[in-house]
Amino acid sequence: MSDTLLIIEDNEQNFYMMRFLLEKNGFSVFGAENGREGIEKALLHKPRAILLDIQLPEMDGYAVAEELQKHPELAKIPIIAVTSYAMVGDREKILAAGATGYIEKPIDPDTFVAEITRYFPQPGDDSKEERQ
Ligand code: MN
Repeated sequence: MSDTLLIIEDNEQNFYMMRFLLEKNGFSVFGAENGREGIEKALLHKPRAILLDIQLPEMDGYAVAEELQKHPELAKIPIIAVTSYAMVGDREKILAAGATGYIEKPIDPDTFVAEITRYFPQPGDDSKEERQ
């Protein structure tokens, strides 16, 4: 399976931050600025996991997650919602829409990669936690 990750995120700063952290950890990253583009790229590249912003133009993250679930070939790809919503109901809503898990914005550079990779463990990963 590839180590390619898809980030669906309309905020350029957030995208660059996540891409930087992931590439530093050996992942290949490609991005989409909106849901339609994200779904197309997911079908094309079959990424290892999808990072999904909730607040997106036109089609929000909930709709994107639901749409991704409709494609059997994408059904096993973990979707990790990236959300600035703190409310419990919103978390439940995105999980109900098909997300595997979620992380909260703002991104914490020290924990980001560890937080997302627990949703798709790496082969040979010793799961050792790094301390600051
Ligand atoms: Mn956004």
